[in-house]
Amino acid sequence: MASYDVIIIGAGPGGYVCAIRCAQLGLKTACVEGRETLGGTCLNVGCIPSKALLHASHQLHESQHNFEKMGLKGAAPKVDWTQMLAYKDEVIAQNTKGIEFLFKKNKIDWIKGWATIPEPGLVTVGDETHKAKNIVIATGSEPATLPGIEIDEKLIVSSTGALSLPKIPKKLVVIGAGVIGLELGSVHARLGTQVTVLEYLDQITPGLDAEIARSFRSILKKQGLEIITGAAVQSAEALKTKAKVTYKLRKDDSTHQVDGDVVLVATGRKPFTQGLGLDALGVDLTQRGQIATDGQYKTSVNGLYAIGDAIEGPMLAHKAEDEGMAVAEILAGQKGHVNYGVIPGVIYTAPEVAAVGATEESLKEAGRAYKVGKFSFMGNGRAKAMFAADGFVKILADAETDRILGAHILGPNAGELIHEICVAMEFGASAEDLARTCHAHPTCSEAVREAALACGDGAIHS
Ligand code: NAD
Repeated sequence: MASYDVIIIGAGPGGYVCAIRCAQLGLKTACVEGRETLGGTCLNVGCIPSKALLHASHQLHESQHNFEKMGLKGAAPKVDWTQMLAYKDEVIAQNTKGIEFLFKKNKIDWIKGWATIPEPGLVTVGDETHKAKNIVIATGSEPATLPGIEIDEKLIVSSTGALSLPKIPKKLVVIGAGVIGLELGSVHARLGTQVTVLEYLDQITPGLDAEIARSFRSILKKQGLEIITGAAVQSAEALKTKAKVTYKLRKDDSTHQVDGDVVLVATGRKPFTQGLGLDALGVDLTQRGQIATDGQYKTSVNGLYAIGDAIEGPMLAHKAEDEGMAVAEILAGQKGHVNYGVIPGVIYTAPEVAAVGATEESLKEAGRAYKVGKFSFMGNGRAKAMFAADGFVKILADAETDRILGAHILGPNAGELIHEICVAMEFGASAEDLARTCHAHPTCSEAVREAALACGDGAIHS
């Protein structure tokens, strides 16, 4: 029986990062993974493949809409879907093999197979049982479907099926205007698919600052996505070659139907913990079925920890990674910590949407006095040169102390721009601190500085 300081179950961003940090801190580490490749949902059927398809389809969009304006003439490229999927698969392979290399480099044992925890301190995989002083559950999440809808991954698909469709659908119905629905809906809209998005709430992207969400919606509309809000989906039925979705409009209770060659169910994800034996171990769960932890990632069972999508908090790869590092540090006797107030969220559409910290709505609800600094990318030369001047930066700062409380960006490279605000917030910076920091010209980052200036005496270019 092999014996380890730590066995981590799951090699997604939470698990593999945790394993590497454990090994770096001198702990004898193994990681159990049942998939053929490391990297979990994110690398295999999530973040990375979707970014490949977003990148490819964005290039197509640029060639169709902006090349001629720049004097780049000639026929726009035709889409070879098989090649696009092969490119996506190659990107996945490069990344998953990279994790395998990192495991070898850090002397982490990859135990291949699906794990069960027969009792505290033991992990069984296939016929073998391994001993561990501590076990970290990092098993992630799986798509949550709706009652009345069965995902067959052919006509009615989750994000997994949507990333490997045999052909580009003529009509795609997306259920849920969250991150997955809008990212994958965008991919297909750019490839020429007629996309209809059905969203239960009156706003897209729940949790996003409402002003950003409204502007984002109108940009998506211009890009050809039909978005129907206030639409409660009742059922989706797979017919021979298409699927039919029935929904009720909440405003008048009227029933409607829409069909598509493919229906994408993107109504959220739920923790994936089946087969671990948590019931028998007596592990406490939250009301929402997540593994309950104590703030130090400890479950109700001694020596058993949990991180990432399987526990509370936003289901984001980077949140899981940070928790993976924190729990490794705790297990090594250090003080691991995650600042949950500064976790950015990004939607990788074009333009991108990025957010960190408080929204205006949350500040109003908390009765907090705040000021708003905004700056449109229309006033940013670099964004204009890239045909990407749609959108704006919005910074929220405390009315009295000027401390940055939150930031929201709709615009080019928003997913990169947000990080200077994250660092500023991490150090407790004021909007003036950001405004007094020299920003290189011409960069899209200048729009962030201008929004910070707008929290004080005013932006220069607006
Ligand atoms: P989500 O929670 O972001 O959005 C789901 C949407 O479905 C919500 O807007 C919800 O109101 C809607 N919905 C629920 N029931 C409905 C019904 N009956 N009819 C119509 N609409 C309905 O979930 P998601 O987009 O599936 O993503 C799952 C998780 O994965 C999220 O936590 C997300 O943050 C994460 N994720 C993140 C990224 C990223 O960071 N870029 C990318 C993909 C996924």
